[in-house]
Amino acid sequence: MRLQTSMLLPFVLFWTLSGFAQTNPTSSQPTPVPKEIPSFDLTAIDKTVDPCVDFYQYACGNWMKNNPIPADKPMWGRFYELRERNLYVLHDILEEAEKPGQRSAVQQKVGDYYAACMDVPAIDKRGTAPLKPMMDKIAAIKTKQDFMQEVGAMHRDGVDVLFSFDQMPDMHDSRQTIADIDQGGLTLPDRDYYLKDDAKSVETRQKLVEHVQKMFELAGDKPEVAAAEAKTVLQVETGLAKAAMDRTVRRDPKVLDHMMTEEQAAALAPSFELTRYFAESGAPKFTSLNVSNPDFFKQVDQQLDAVPLDEWKTYLRWRTLDSYATVLPQPFVDENFQFFGNYMSGQKEIEPRWKRCVHSTDGALGMALGELYVDKTFGPAGKERTLKMVNAIEAAMHEDINQLGWMSEATKQKALEKLNAIVNNIGYPDKWRDYSSVVVTRDDYAGNFTRANAFEVHRQLNKISKPTDKKDWGMTPPTVNAYYRPDMNDINFPAGILQPPFYSNQMDDAVNYGAIGMVIGHELTHGFDDQGSKFDANGNLNNWWTPQDEKAFEQRTSCLADEYSNFVAVKDSEGAVKLNGKLTLGENTADNGGIKLAYMALMNAIGNTPIKPIDGYTPEQRFFIAYGQIWCTNVSDQQARKLAIIDPHSPGRWRVNGVVQNSAAFEKAFGCKPGQPMVRENACRVW
Ligand SMILES: [Zn+2]
Repeated sequence: MRLQTSMLLPFVLFWTLSGFAQTNPTSSQPTPVPKEIPSFDLTAIDKTVDPCVDFYQYACGNWMKNNPIPADKPMWGRFYELRERNLYVLHDILEEAEKPGQRSAVQQKVGDYYAACMDVPAIDKRGTAPLKPMMDKIAAIKTKQDFMQEVGAMHRDGVDVLFSFDQMPDMHDSRQTIADIDQGGLTLPDRDYYLKDDAKSVETRQKLVEHVQKMFELAGDKPEVAAAEAKTVLQVETGLAKAAMDRTVRRDPKVLDHMMTEEQAAALAPSFELTRYFAESGAPKFTSLNVSNPDFFKQVDQQLDAVPLDEWKTYLRWRTLDSYATVLPQPFVDENFQFFGNYMSGQKEIEPRWKRCVHSTDGALGMALGELYVDKTFGPAGKERTLKMVNAIEAAMHEDINQLGWMSEATKQKALEKLNAIVNNIGYPDKWRDYSSVVVTRDDYAGNFTRANAFEVHRQLNKISKPTDKKDWGMTPPTVNAYYRPDMNDINFPAGILQPPFYSNQMDDAVNYGAIGMVIGHELTHGFDDQGSKFDANGNLNNWWTPQDEKAFEQRTSCLADEYSNFVAVKDSEGAVKLNGKLTLGENTADNGGIKLAYMALMNAIGNTPIKPIDGYTPEQRFFIAYGQIWCTNVSDQQARKLAIIDPHSPGRWRVNGVVQNSAAFEKAFGCKPGQPMVRENACRVW
């Protein structure tokens, strides 16, 4: 695994970002870039609701009523509006870059990638030819050794099959990057889908089998053969799922901490032939590595022996088909969308092709596209003003730690040491990535896709056995998101999020602190959430807490886990699903601390100067409304159901109401009274 980074939002929200799909070439051409998203939107407010009774409904009620989910999305919200707007900006950049003639090397690379993606006739003409070399190699497999060799080849092309091989900073010395192997190889988004016996899970497996069968048929297999193959795929993947570790358990880095010598890892699972696998991986040499989930390898090792080779070959063919579905002709794209987009996410229509080609270019060459994006939209001024706010929030956290009543001086010193060591990355990386070795041609979309994937796999593995590159970003600059990395101890804000509705030059401090200020506070607090707090100032897994403080901290976080476990994520004809308070604990802790820090920073900024209400709202009220409104969301039942299983973030409604219920500042700002729903009797406060 790569150690989980803590983000503001789920990274893969739209299914298209991972399972990228093609579309109907005749459908909508983009209109000009939409106007800026309002940061503080009076028209979104539902004044028929008492803010002390249901603040989310108050801040977002009219927005929800007036902004149904677009047909080409599984969910919709304020920051999805910004993501959508960014798509239009990127589209303009790519249309420009795509025109042959006077182009920079970067424009040429991304422009040709985009052009090849948009060239439907060329993609249709090639048909399934891009798959043939891979399918031929799989067909030629005669022994288990051949099989493992092919798994290695597929990994080098970025196909998720059987297990994962990656790099990560050493959890005990984050200055060094080491190799890591982990569970992997599933088609559905979580092992639970394979293991649970409720009606919905059973149905999902049935739908998966139907989907796999259709895809095999499209690839040329006879229906009865394809039907048998689909059942085999489900069986093989169920075996992998049984060996996999639960998502919530995996949040604890200590559970994933198993350093071994290469020999020990190889002996753990002899059939994997790991020694040869590593030698052929293209990674620099290493003698020890982390095995995140040793049990997975032990169990799958037995399955490698027990399951006939032909069944493993069927599984490899499937993983190939699934990985390439989106770069193949229309029937594959449509079938892929029907399952992942429509059935799993509740999305009614596939996104227009141009949008998916923008996503695809960002996924393949995102740091090149990001370079053009930053030139056009961000610049040094954006970096400067964000840094000012980050400094203000960090100062608030400093103040906050010093005044904590429940923490001893000794632990406070360590916490401050960690806070002072946090590195702030804003907008875009210092150095742009060099993609010159990636061959991109205008007429070979599948080939471009494969070469870009292989480039990225190699770039990542090449970090092994080297000093950790702390300058490398985990998100591309146009991304509307932010993250904290516990093993790097850094906070990262891509340029994409540093604009309205998160930050606006036109807005008062109250609104900017409620929106981007809270985002900054959220990321900072991740360094001190239930898992982030296990890492020290240097990003090492190292307990800096006194036993007593640790106990007090755990009591505080368990208050949040209990609070959120009672919230309902989705309630539809198939029943109600509650939030998993333990899965979402890190994010809820970050929200709980983030709002407090942003509010403190705002109070510091205002000082003793009285500020008149604007639009009838005091600065304190504007702060909370701005916060509430960045989470205005409409979501399909299917998507809500899926996110309740896989997403460590709570849904928008609970990110707002779950937070303000614990905030004394909110209570005061709106004059709420004890006993009202937005005033929690025993408020949870962590930081
Ligand atoms: Zn987060």
